[in-house]
Amino acid sequence: MRIEDLRKTFGDNEVLRGIDLDVSRGEVVVILGPSGSGKSTLLRCVNLLEKPTGGRIFFEDTEITAKKTDINKVRAKVGMVFQNFNLFPHLTAKKNVMLAQQKVLHRNKEEAARIAEEQLEKVGLGERIDYKPSELSGGQQQRVAIARALAMDPHVMLFDEATSALDPELVRDVLSVMKELARGGMTMIVVTHEMGFARDVADRVIFMDGGYIVEQGTPEEVFDHPTSVRTKDFLGHIS
Ligand code: ADP
Ligand code: MG
Repeated sequence: MRIEDLRKTFGDNEVLRGIDLDVSRGEVVVILGPSGSGKSTLLRCVNLLEKPTGGRIFFEDTEITAKKTDINKVRAKVGMVFQNFNLFPHLTAKKNVMLAQQKVLHRNKEEAARIAEEQLEKVGLGERIDYKPSELSGGQQQRVAIARALAMDPHVMLFDEATSALDPELVRDVLSVMKELARGGMTMIVVTHEMGFARDVADRVIFMDGGYIVEQGTPEEVFDHPTSVRTKDFLGHIS
């Protein structure tokens, strides 16, 4: 993925002020930064949930910001996991994972069911496929959301503070699913405040502030030898 001079303005609030970012196949990029720095907006632009006001995004061989691009095709390849799960409350875990496969990829019911079971098994919920979201813990619901995204065979996965709404004891199971995914070679862009995860899993850490990428490097570079005052300040406050 290549992001060139990406800009996004809401009214007169310039939230992204020229973001340049290349992500290679199989790379895990972790984005850190204070609240309001534009992290979610960046991910939402990559998934075309927001329309950029400037710049271009290329994904594989397509400029996804081009007018003629089929948004649904892009979304099918770009999986996204949000802070608040966004599961359908009246559907079981399995049905939640089947739905987009049938609607967007036009898989038949049997195939969608088979893939749903497979993916739920992978995230450790093989025993819970017939439970509804209200019968699952937050961590389990988030793992259903991850299974739902993976069932679409995404080429890249975006995580926006996927563990921020969870009780501390439930965070670990979700992070270990994400770690496993990274080890399996998935390309990932992860917004998180989990510094341990960033250190262990990230190939590259990016620090955003005020709509800019202020600093980037390996976890060692950014955590142990930050060069920008704002990064130092942020890390100082968090750890
Ligand atoms: P972060 O995820 O880093 O906390 P966000 O990308 O959510 O930051 O938000 C960055 C800024 O963009 C904030 O000032 C926020 O109020 C603004 N913003 C985000 N989404 C919208 C929107 N849909 N409409 C107007 N302002 C928005
Ligand atoms: Mg955010």
